[in-house]
Amino acid sequence: MSSRRESADSLNEFGLIEQYFTSVGASASSDLVLGVGDDCALIQPPPGKLLCLSVDTVVEGVHFPQGFPPKFIAMRALGAALSDLAAMGASPSHFTLALTLPASDRSWLQAFSDGLSEMARACNVSLVGGDTARGPLAVSIQVHGWVEPDKALCRSGAQVGDLLFVSGDLGSAAGGLALARNCANSAFDSSFSPLYQRFSEPYPRLGLGAQLVGLASSCIDVSDGLIADARHISLSSNVQLQVETARVPMHQSLREGFPERAIEMALSGGDDYELLFTVPEARMQELYQLATEIKITQIGRVLAGESVVVVQEGKAWQCESEGYQHFE
Ligand code: ADP
Ligand code: MG
Repeated sequence: MSSRRESADSLNEFGLIEQYFTSVGASASSDLVLGVGDDCALIQPPPGKLLCLSVDTVVEGVHFPQGFPPKFIAMRALGAALSDLAAMGASPSHFTLALTLPASDRSWLQAFSDGLSEMARACNVSLVGGDTARGPLAVSIQVHGWVEPDKALCRSGAQVGDLLFVSGDLGSAAGGLALARNCANSAFDSSFSPLYQRFSEPYPRLGLGAQLVGLASSCIDVSDGLIADARHISLSSNVQLQVETARVPMHQSLREGFPERAIEMALSGGDDYELLFTVPEARMQELYQLATEIKITQIGRVLAGESVVVVQEGKAWQCESEGYQHFE
């Protein structure tokens, strides 16, 4: 609900929505009754399912550097938002987009819309509504998904004796962001480094999240950094999480590109959108038998106590930074 004076001018605003945001993503699912164009979207929830919803905002200069390619702004914003559904074990359905733009630049909008469509189709979600206003560049995405009652993967279920796992590699996105900050805007290209690719196109681990339903005792996605996010499981589950640095999975390019900082980046760099989860030791074989292409690594275990303890060669490790916080 934006006033004409505050938002992009009225003709452009509706033309812009029509042209770039009416058919983004997967073809309409059977639960979508009414999409973009009316005052609200209408969705028919599948019988017996719980609605799982979450919203995420990214702001230029805070979450991505100025001049960052619009295709990747869109892919990151939607990937990060959907990662919360993955971490709950939910199956994604739709999303809405609140876009604040300094100007209605056609080539920027086309690239943004293309990136959004690419991520949306890959994750089988469609855009069903939103809001568009003029102002400093910011993107808010609310995602909707479905989960069986009592089946959502919460942060609170870790039990003493469970093992701690992570998907993929850690620190890649932090490495990618460091590379992006060091190079000219023209060099932003996702093929330029696998690290940059994880930063710019963070495909969420939706398939794995769904497979962990009924198997993982707790789960979170790594958005602020391993230690920071592990602490959320520790607090919610009232347990201690022990992480062994030697087990933390890192991409070869991170070890080579940042030999001195790689482990620090893997422990406290954010934006990887991997899943961090606990599984009872007795069910470890079931986990390793999952048909998934995503690497899964045991990085530690759940102990009685509190907080997160990082161990290197048997000794407690002091990390310089624990993760990203907006109001530190
Ligand atoms: P209202 O004033 O009732 O909020 P708007 O003029 O903001 O309606 O939006 C008109 C229609 O376009 C609505 O269906 C809204 O959901 C959709 N819409 C607006 N901005 C976007 C956007 N960035 N992406 C997708 N749909 C949008
Ligand atoms: Mg509106």
